[in-house]
Amino acid sequence: MSGALIERWIRPEIRAISAYHVPPSAGLIKLDAMENPYTWPQELIDRWLARLQQTAVNRYPDPAGTELVAQIREVMGVPAGQGIILGNGSDELIQVLAMAVAAPGRSILAPEPGFVMYRMIAGFVGMDYVGVPLRSDDFELDLDAMLAAMAEHEPAIVFLAYPNNPTGNLWDRVVIERIIEAAPGLVVIDEAYAPFAADSFLPDLGRWPNLLVMRTFSKLGLAGLRLGYLSGPPELLDEFDKIRLPYNINTLTQMTAALALEHIEIFDEQAAWIRTSRAELAAALAGLPGLEVYPSEANFLLLRTEPGQADVLHRKLLDAGILIKNLSPSGGLLADCLRVTVGTPDENRRLVEALWAGLDRAQ
Ligand SMILES: *Cc1c(COP(=O)(O)O)cnc(C)c1O
Repeated sequence: MSGALIERWIRPEIRAISAYHVPPSAGLIKLDAMENPYTWPQELIDRWLARLQQTAVNRYPDPAGTELVAQIREVMGVPAGQGIILGNGSDELIQVLAMAVAAPGRSILAPEPGFVMYRMIAGFVGMDYVGVPLRSDDFELDLDAMLAAMAEHEPAIVFLAYPNNPTGNLWDRVVIERIIEAAPGLVVIDEAYAPFAADSFLPDLGRWPNLLVMRTFSKLGLAGLRLGYLSGPPELLDEFDKIRLPYNINTLTQMTAALALEHIEIFDEQAAWIRTSRAELAAALAGLPGLEVYPSEANFLLLRTEPGQADVLHRKLLDAGILIKNLSPSGGLLADCLRVTVGTPDENRRLVEALWAGLDRAQ
């Protein structure tokens, strides 16, 4: 019945998109979405509840999150003179960026394999998307291919996830600097995994007029809040701020994030546990037959199975009550690849056991 309406009114490029799929996870060990597995200590929960009692939800939130912005600037060390805007997750900031530059024939460019939202959001706003393959042997940026694609397409925005999702590596910084210098438009360094990485472009803000750095609180342990921030030249951010919906950061998120930032050492400690577990998990997985483990600076590991085994292992893990991400259906450089989030030591042990059992019977 609504078929004719859809046909007539929904833009063809929207009809062509397949919806972002989130698999059911109830009752499973959830190692598919790069969440922090640790909850809050009881004292922090008590403080949270006390603040909640003083929170007025009958009032609109602070539209710009002024106090939270000041706190982020201080705690995260955003360089003086650089602006900050908040997003309902960094996904929303990608959307704001795209809406600000969207026009027919304009493009967004990103390396592939990469974070899927860059391509999806380009489609939502009617822009072209240019995916430039990473080098197949080490998932490094292919500088020549990037420069050639930028010269050909003149992208309005280049997104570089640093570290990259789903490959987990930090690309060569010198190559990124060359890309920033050659880009005709904006370059957004997406540092969603900054808590687990050894390098960052945040201190580099101001070195180039087209450099922006985007971060999120999701992977640090606050995925449920939906809070990200974008930092860069204030004049540029003023333009993006016009498109950001007023009140995009709700009162509960502003209150909770402020509390979390006051106790950032708890989250830093959890991130340190995850980095330690990452090394242990990588070593354990590397010892399994028929699995290649890629180096990671994030809170997940990319694995390559023997040809054709990724689907089998993914299903066997589900049977064992463990949800991971099967990347093999994307094909290309990700054929036979799985991605596992680093969990608690107990979750990681169960993952290794289940993989061991699955691999055993797969051979
Ligand atoms: C998870 C992720 C995001 C999205 O984070 P949210 O703030 O939860 O929207 C952005 N970029 C990359 C590379 C990610 O992996």
